[in-house]
Amino acid sequence: MTDEMTDCIIEAKSVIRKFGSGAREVHALRGIDLSVRRGELTLLMGPSGSGKTTLLLVLGCMLTPTSGTVTICGTSTSNLDKEALAKLRRDHIGFVFQSYHLFPTLTAVQNVQLALDIRGEHGRRAVKRSDEALARVGLESKIRARPNELSGGEQQRVAIARAIVANPSIILADEPTAALDGENGRTIMRSLADIAHERDRAVLVVTHDPRVIPFADRIVHIEDGLLADEAPGEIERLRPPKAVSG
Ligand code: ADP
Ligand code: MG
Repeated sequence: MTDEMTDCIIEAKSVIRKFGSGAREVHALRGIDLSVRRGELTLLMGPSGSGKTTLLLVLGCMLTPTSGTVTICGTSTSNLDKEALAKLRRDHIGFVFQSYHLFPTLTAVQNVQLALDIRGEHGRRAVKRSDEALARVGLESKIRARPNELSGGEQQRVAIARAIVANPSIILADEPTAALDGENGRTIMRSLADIAHERDRAVLVVTHDPRVIPFADRIVHIEDGLLADEAPGEIERLRPPKAVSG
């Protein structure tokens, strides 16, 4: 494999996704070419209904494209069955959602452990790894708290710990700050940026929240199912002057 291929860990080529048929057909993605690289936090921005979630689900192998190809860490997903896709997801991808998706009856560390359970990893080692993942997002003091004892920002940090505990090379986050205030939103984005930079992962954050711009290495815009890549220098121009201090 060339360096270029290993740097680029998700690659979408000519991806089209339609929903429904006839008069009710919706053309959610209309020909997407996108490479998501490791070591970077990429923002996918666009208005409501522009196709952000659909693209995230296609890149994460949760939804098959109507046409076009998606390659994950060098493996084309085109001819894989459901089971093989699930394995590819388990091996390479961690998901973070707007609404956290935590189990209310489980503690923080038990919620994180679920991600190891489904990979067949149990016991003391799983608990230790889960504790470590929570520590990485600053929640070492809350490992036994249940979701209703945590703030929204803390719940989202548990969800991030769950996404990273199995050490995936790709993190996909759909509107992770949408339910959070400014301070909590910044904490979440800082964690996601650290994950991209320190651990050389590919992090893709889907958002329509301009407050997350200061944390981006790269911004891709989507409108009506089509992408427009940011011109070089554009992120600097968009970055509010004091944004990273708070
Ligand atoms: P965003 O996340 O940017 O708000 P989505 O990707 O959710 O946008 O949706 C893009 C378009 O596809 C919208 O017009 C939406 O209504 C449509 N769409 C998304 N999912 C479905 C679905 N499961 N069935 C029918 N239409 C859908
Ligand atoms: Mg969406």
